[in-house]
Amino acid sequence: MELKNIINKIFSELSDYTGHGQVADYIPALSSVKRDSFAISAATLDGNVISAGDFTERFSIQSISKVFTLAMVSRHLGDKLWESVGREPSGTAFNSLIQLEQEKGIPRNPFINSGALVITDRLIDLYPDSKHAIIDFVRELSGVKDISYDKSVALSELETSHRNLALANFIKSFGNIHNKVEDIIDVYCNQCSISMSTEELAKSFLFLASGGVIPTTGQRVCGPRSVKRLNALMLTCGLYNESGDFAFRVGMPGKSGVGGGIVAVIPNKLSIAVWSPELNSNGNSYRGIETLERFTTELGISVF
Ligand code: GLN
Repeated sequence: MELKNIINKIFSELSDYTGHGQVADYIPALSSVKRDSFAISAATLDGNVISAGDFTERFSIQSISKVFTLAMVSRHLGDKLWESVGREPSGTAFNSLIQLEQEKGIPRNPFINSGALVITDRLIDLYPDSKHAIIDFVRELSGVKDISYDKSVALSELETSHRNLALANFIKSFGNIHNKVEDIIDVYCNQCSISMSTEELAKSFLFLASGGVIPTTGQRVCGPRSVKRLNALMLTCGLYNESGDFAFRVGMPGKSGVGGGIVAVIPNKLSIAVWSPELNSNGNSYRGIETLERFTTELGISVF
């Protein structure tokens, strides 16, 4: 079946698939989102995007931003980075503190909050004006010049970031964070607040399906080795303690966020973004995962 037909079929099959989860409610800007919003966009290597539903509506990308910051930092720091962040699934919630003490302030991986905070610390070392650098990077990847931070989301995140502050302080006590904790949390809350549509997300992840090059501009973002690593980390750690189940059901490297978005890629083929704000108990989009499972099943192609 053609890609367009597959997307339309899944969209219509799942259009009433709501009421199975909870919309994130730790800040007002997220809890007020329309819970039945639903969008799918798939971008192919020729730059074409095929979408269904609310695909132009922007939402809070939240933890999906962790892929962008990791891509920015790893292309500068290379192997040295992996002395301070691990590459194993955590098997715990995204904001858990529990492993950090035993593992001496080295977070399990860069896609749980503790790991992302270390990455943001290194980003501040590399880019003094980090907020500008992040948004410029996302605009470059997507080719969309008006993507920006949602200031009200960033502010609410800041007001409720006690746990992230605790994580950053704890890591700092082991010497694995160098900058001021407040500066790290400020950048981190802003990166989580970036507002994008599924169409824009699918385009911005295409470099991970095309060996590190933005197919529409030919610009190289990173080398094939970095792409291999970013995709491997998404596959093993991208959906927190549901990463194994996601690999089992969907078979693509992916990254989720509590705004209800998930982005996934099939190397050398496509990237796909879905958005549906109701979350399961792991903080992952319930309908998003179901959509992606049906997608690889219908398509008959996954990374396996
Ligand atoms: N802003 C959220 C947090 O740091 C992002 C978490 C997520 O999307 N899983 O807790």
